[in-house]
Amino acid sequence: MAGAAAIQRSARRIARYAAAAPSLSRSALQQPGRLLSSQASPEHGPRGAVSGSELALYPPERVRNFSIIAHVDHGKSTLADRLLELTGTIQKGHGQPQYLDKLQVERERGITVKAQTATMFYSYEVSRSLAACQGALLVVDAAQGVQAQTIANFYLAFESNLSIIPVINKIDQPTADPDNVKDQLKRLFDIDPSEALLTSAKTGKGLEHVLPAVIERIPSPPGKCDSPVRMLLLDSYYDEYKGVICHVAVVDGALCKGDKIASAATGRAYEVLDVGIMHPELTPTGVLYTGQVGYVISGMRSTKEARIGDTLHQAKSTVEPLPGFKPAKHMVFSGLYPADGSDFEALSYAIEKLTCNDASVSVTKETSNALGMGFRCGFLGLLHMDVFHQRLEQEYGAQVISTIPTVPYIFEYGDGSKVQVENPAALASNPGKRVVACWEPTVIATIIIPSEYVGPVIMLCSERRGEQLEYTFIDAQRALLKYRLPLKEIIVDFYNELKGITSGYATFDYEDSEYQQSDLVKMDILLNGKPVDAMATIVHNQKAQRVGRELVEKLKKFIERQMFEITIQAAIGSKVIARETLSAMRKNVLAKCYGGDITRKKKLLEKQKEGKKRMKRVGSVDIPQEAFHELLKVSNSK
Ligand code: GDP
Ligand code: MG
Repeated sequence: MAGAAAIQRSARRIARYAAAAPSLSRSALQQPGRLLSSQASPEHGPRGAVSGSELALYPPERVRNFSIIAHVDHGKSTLADRLLELTGTIQKGHGQPQYLDKLQVERERGITVKAQTATMFYSYEVSRSLAACQGALLVVDAAQGVQAQTIANFYLAFESNLSIIPVINKIDQPTADPDNVKDQLKRLFDIDPSEALLTSAKTGKGLEHVLPAVIERIPSPPGKCDSPVRMLLLDSYYDEYKGVICHVAVVDGALCKGDKIASAATGRAYEVLDVGIMHPELTPTGVLYTGQVGYVISGMRSTKEARIGDTLHQAKSTVEPLPGFKPAKHMVFSGLYPADGSDFEALSYAIEKLTCNDASVSVTKETSNALGMGFRCGFLGLLHMDVFHQRLEQEYGAQVISTIPTVPYIFEYGDGSKVQVENPAALASNPGKRVVACWEPTVIATIIIPSEYVGPVIMLCSERRGEQLEYTFIDAQRALLKYRLPLKEIIVDFYNELKGITSGYATFDYEDSEYQQSDLVKMDILLNGKPVDAMATIVHNQKAQRVGRELVEKLKKFIERQMFEITIQAAIGSKVIARETLSAMRKNVLAKCYGGDITRKKKLLEKQKEGKKRMKRVGSVDIPQEAFHELLKVSNSK
């Protein structure tokens, strides 16, 4: 289950597990006419109902569960589309590419954020979660070759003991060089070049070999058909009409509508109200058999009851819980506050709604002197945080101020007690207790770049306090670097900078690693002598001076001059390390308009009002939202 645990670890990871994990029937493949015709839907769109007796035709030996994993843009979603079409699960030309990417943010960014599960008919189910899979298609772009996420994905699948089928995709491109990719696969992963499938998800070339390879090379799910039902809870979300929907992999036994099941984690019992497959829309079947993946609706009230990685089993029987996953680890924390103080309720509602569908975000209420009531949210990683913000704004129209993202530091006091600090403001500047040691989380980063960029990338990594672990060449043109880096150093702007200094060629991925001892200090930002709690940050001692300078300079740029002088200071404890002064405004903005054009005056007033919405008044100083936003960028770099 190591791989499955890793899936939960970060949104960055989630992002690359694309859609489908079909399971296949050997006989279905041999008699495609019969099966496909019986499934063909006269209408466009997903097919209709599937009966439980149809599912009974697929005992474990006729089921294949697999994932599609790849570096971003190498073609997961497109390949999933083609396989769903090939199996008649969705109609060809359904007019919506990347069928399984449903969120607006996914469509805009062209990334797959939410793991989707689909059952193809040929097929009986799909789970993207490696825990439910026995194999994976490792897709590599024939022109781009192996990239950072390809490497991370490979090891994830490899450690989970999955059968890996290399798929070299996009062979239709003029710059495709499949032989070079085969060499890379051999050199990096010891994959026999003859194992690689060559495909174009665009033109359809080579796709006919994919499903037969899945059947041949991926084992059927293990499991005991005649044992009491035992299943792994892979994912859950909340549907306004149907309630909590759990995605499950039935490991042993069968699950029928009306069954009584219980959660191994909470001990609570439920009745199965509806059960079926994702085909790719929810399709009731009344039953799921050993080795099959599908959904269950059981009257759970909130996704909090549906713990991902939990074992659900026949009520009143005692079963050995499945290994499950490690609980999601929150690695990036940030305070979220309504941009307009009066919108707290709206933000609260939006967060509540959104976390119903994304149980991996942790939320606790917090109050800031500067920003009022808000929330401290924990995310699995950077992309996860970014996407959450974007969804709050896009799907709920929430206007959010977020504080400088931070990582879970550990501080040890003189009396031997240790605390995990998720909010720098919570760490008192002059604690009664003396801090004797601090630790910060690190990551192992994998960076792949054309060799000419090695110099600048090594510079960047050492600026970010990185320790080089590996430096090799993966082919004649490209180098692979591995670094241990403090997580804090990469959570803001690392990737942008990396892209910038490599003309966009670098690819980057990271995995969580251990904590390391570090010389950390809390830095306060003071406006007119008053600390602004929401701007406090924890920095490395050696960087404090520089970060402090940059923060106050940035703030000076973004805070508008007001009727009085404003001093902006960065301080560590009682020691001021940087200071700027914003002189008082001499004239009233409206002064210019006296006697002048009334519409212009109105416009100015309106503009001011508009601006106010995204202002925060701290003490007597108005701080525009952009100032907070800009602080996020500075706080970490260089
Ligand atoms: P994902 O990020 O791995 O899910 O990749 P997508 O499936 O979203 O594909 C990324 C881009 O590559 C899209 O613009 C696809 O249309 C394109 N693409 C996918 N497969 C192929 C292929 O075989 N050939 C070509 N030329 N383009 C492809
Ligand atoms: Mg995708």
